[in-house]
Amino acid sequence: MSDLPDIAADLRERARYYASLTDLGLPPRPPAAAGDEPGANVGPASDAAAVLKAVREDVGDCTRCKLAGGRRNIVFGQGNPNARLMFVGEAPGADEDAQGLAFVGRAGQLLTDIIEKGLKIPRKDVFIANVLMCRPPENRNPEPDEILACQPFLEQKIDAIRPKVLVGLGKFGAQWLLKTAEPISRLRGRVGDYKGIKVVPTYHPAFLLRTPSAKKEVWEDMKVVLGLLAE
Ligand code: URA
Repeated sequence: MSDLPDIAADLRERARYYASLTDLGLPPRPPAAAGDEPGANVGPASDAAAVLKAVREDVGDCTRCKLAGGRRNIVFGQGNPNARLMFVGEAPGADEDAQGLAFVGRAGQLLTDIIEKGLKIPRKDVFIANVLMCRPPENRNPEPDEILACQPFLEQKIDAIRPKVLVGLGKFGAQWLLKTAEPISRLRGRVGDYKGIKVVPTYHPAFLLRTPSAKKEVWEDMKVVLGLLAE
């Protein structure tokens, strides 16, 4: 009974998040063609790697949102399908678009350092994905219709991997995981929940490149990650 106010507050915050994705007056998504609905082609699969492969096949040469026309490669995300730790970033940049891999540019190098030098985990042992799989033009912010079009696939990736800890990188990664419109500055420092998985919101590595003084907060967040992984 005492949880009811929390549940009501959580529902109100989710409503605010989804309102923040829909208040731009964008046209509704066209109905999916038969077999094009996310998950339509993903049958039962026995292990995370097989599920991820099926999800990638389902993504196909995706044209579900307007980013399809401008991208070079879909960035599905990569890493260990059985990872205990998963990172969710924002969207591919120019390097990621060129290579089809998440976090391989300058921000990616810093993320690698956070993982390998800070957490002392080989990068290949974690899984790294983004809210969007395609690069927005000029690296602009993801738009609501793009976030919603990609959403089922990120949900399926997380459902397949079921990591012990999720790290939301920056506003877009953290807000997506926590279904909240709260700013990242207020989200970090608190452990959240995504379908029973612990969520640690932290600053985006691209922000750290511009604001190195924020690295100490990220290190605090990574210590929380290590504590949760050790539980
Ligand atoms: N920034 C992101 O959010 N994701 C990437 O993959 C690269 C840069």
